Amino acid sequence: MHELIATQRILDAALEQADPEEGRRVRAVRLQLGALAGVVEPSIRFYWDLLTPGTLAAGSSLDVRLVPGTVRCRACGQVSETEEAFPVCPACGGADLAVLAGDGVVIEAVETVLSDEAVGAPVPVAAPPAR
Ligand SMILES: [Zn+2]
Repeated sequence: MHELIATQRILDAALEQADPEEGRRVRAVRLQLGALAGVVEPSIRFYWDLLTPGTLAAGSSLDVRLVPGTVRCRACGQVSETEEAFPVCPACGGADLAVLAGDGVVIEAVETVLSDEAVGAPVPVAAPPAR
């Protein structure tokens, strides 16, 4: 359910850039996905395909950029980068890690297009991280 909710939030934010009266729809969404976000790309894509039909984001593409997480070990203090969803400390093997970065899902840009027009320029948006 967590991933469904996260995807719904991404979609809601993307649809704010669309305008039904103007005929402006979402063509592509660019996401930055942290390794420690607790959601994985295949799930987001799965729910995207489930949620977008019938909306102004129907048929849109998702461009997902994965970013590594940064953690600090609470046992030995080692700071490390990881691409694992459930990392362990590379120095001592401890699993009690504080997340310093890479636990968010950030919308970098929403590209919209008028229904009977060519490509619109990507619109940068400032959206709160969807968790
Ligand atoms: Zn450690």
